[in-house]
Amino acid sequence: MRVRVDAQRCQGQNRCYALAPEVFDVDDLGQALVIATGSIPQSLEARVRLAAANCPERAITVSDDD
Ligand code: SF4
Repeated sequence: MRVRVDAQRCQGQNRCYALAPEVFDVDDLGQALVIATGSIPQSLEARVRLAAANCPERAITVSDDD
């Protein structure tokens, strides 16, 4: 799984960070960013999908590995 955050959509509610801090962080302006590099470990996939489903701005996109 790959994940990315659309900076244009993110409004900084931090739900993603609360659900999966191993994958998401928030910068000084409250903007979410993906800190995980490469493919998301399988053990974190469920929480990443939950974060994407709970992002009120629909700013998180998940996709399968190539
Ligand atoms: S949950 Fe969505 S809007 Fe909130 S910080 Fe994360 S990506 Fe941004």
